[in-house]
Amino acid sequence: MAKATNKQPKKVKHIPLRTCVACHETKPKRELLRVVRTPDSHIVLDATGKKSGRGAYLCARLSCWEIALKKHRLEQEFETTLSEEDRANLEAFVATLPKDEPLAATTSASVTGMPTAEKGAPKTRVAR
Ligand SMILES: [Zn+2]
Repeated sequence: MAKATNKQPKKVKHIPLRTCVACHETKPKRELLRVVRTPDSHIVLDATGKKSGRGAYLCARLSCWEIALKKHRLEQEFETTLSEEDRANLEAFVATLPKDEPLAATTSASVTGMPTAEKGAPKTRVAR
């Protein structure tokens, strides 16, 4: 089924697993993107993984985000309504996702000694 990738570190002993709300695949938490319902009921991408609030996880791939948005998976998950503002922000982020490649692929380009500290996720937070 899934292709074996030799990019994943195999030394990690205990990896926290989370389930994608769109495809329901269980993956290491660090490979998934976290979405949070903030205390004031906004649904936002949590690029840092540190926001407080109830979280849901999605694969870093376009297809899962399209499912999540079109089929209201996030709203079901959070039992709330996605506001137009929040939806627009998430859609703006979704537009940056590669077709069906995991984001991880962009961070593992051949290492040439230069620091590649990019996170891969753009800042799509709402500035208020
Ligand atoms: Zn998924």
